[in-house]
Amino acid sequence: MSKLREVIRDTINKTGPITVAKFMELSLGHPEFGYYTTRDPIGVKGDFVTSPEISQIFGELIALWSATCWEHMNAPKRVEVIECGPGRGTLMTDFLRTSRAIPDFDKAINIHLVETSPILKGRQSKILNEIGIKWHDSLDTVPIGPTILIANEFLDALPVHQLVKTPGGWAERRVERANKGFMFTTDKPSPKTKAKIPESLLSATTGSVYEYSSAALEVADQIVQRFKAAPGYALFIDYGYDKYQTGDTLQAVKSQSYADVLVNPGQVDLTAHVNFAALGERIRDHGMSTLGPISQASFLISLGIFRRTRDLTKNANADQARMINSGTGRLINLHQMGALYKVFVAMGTDLPTPAGFEQ
Ligand code: SAH
Repeated sequence: MSKLREVIRDTINKTGPITVAKFMELSLGHPEFGYYTTRDPIGVKGDFVTSPEISQIFGELIALWSATCWEHMNAPKRVEVIECGPGRGTLMTDFLRTSRAIPDFDKAINIHLVETSPILKGRQSKILNEIGIKWHDSLDTVPIGPTILIANEFLDALPVHQLVKTPGGWAERRVERANKGFMFTTDKPSPKTKAKIPESLLSATTGSVYEYSSAALEVADQIVQRFKAAPGYALFIDYGYDKYQTGDTLQAVKSQSYADVLVNPGQVDLTAHVNFAALGERIRDHGMSTLGPISQASFLISLGIFRRTRDLTKNANADQARMINSGTGRLINLHQMGALYKVFVAMGTDLPTPAGFEQ
């Protein structure tokens, strides 16, 4: 039996069945045997491919977007640029190459990478090789000040709770031991669980599942605290939904294919679609603004992906040009990432609308 399976079974022995969020947290982030702790899963040979790995233009356009946000904040002398879950450091590499061309912005930026995986931290420090980049385990330790926060496919890796509508009411779904593995069970319905359900979903049919992420809401709270103290923009790109909805979106992926969520904890990637509705409500409840989500395609097109693609291909050989064009196609294709991936912004009050979101 895998080590992590034993750890989870021991935990259940001690505490009783665990929430889906706890199962996800242990599967992905266990300090010794978690999925992200033990591997670099990103890339064609890995379990999944992300936008910055598909095209350098992704990080380049995000750098330009960030520079215009910095100008919207009146070009402060110092701005904290935070990337949450930077993966292989590819986006930040493309970002920094681009920011070099904007000297005043480049001088102002202080880079902070929020990353929990020791293996990915290692990769990031190797490829980035820059003096002054700081790593953090959480947002708490990043100094307060004018902020630009970037997070691509970060929120989908944060643990979600699943609440199920049973004949007796809303109940938390849990993971219980079964033979050598695990199975789902459901708590008794309780008013505390019902209180988590948005009004519009209260009368959902039996069997409906509502997902929310305490960890993502905590990130929202931390951002709000930062934006109360200093101006800032936060850019989230992920798959997700903008209206409250029911649906079990928890999925496991291994080698670019779907796998069983419960069978090999620590060996498969677990993600859930991002509940942008809950995230946005939390941020707006605290007086900050949100924009979107809009599609990745419309965001990248309005930032100039076509012009950049043309410029890059001008100096490329035929093979490179094919790669560049196909990368752009994948990022904006409405049958692929272009529509599936959504762009969502949280920002401080009284700041101008950032690029890509103007009407
Ligand atoms: N943004 C990258 C990687 C996405 S994969 C890209 O687009 O390629 C998810 C990233 O989030 C990984 O770097 C993973 O190690 C990191 N991560 C997962 N949970 C995290 C947490 N709780 N805190 C910080 N980073 C986390």
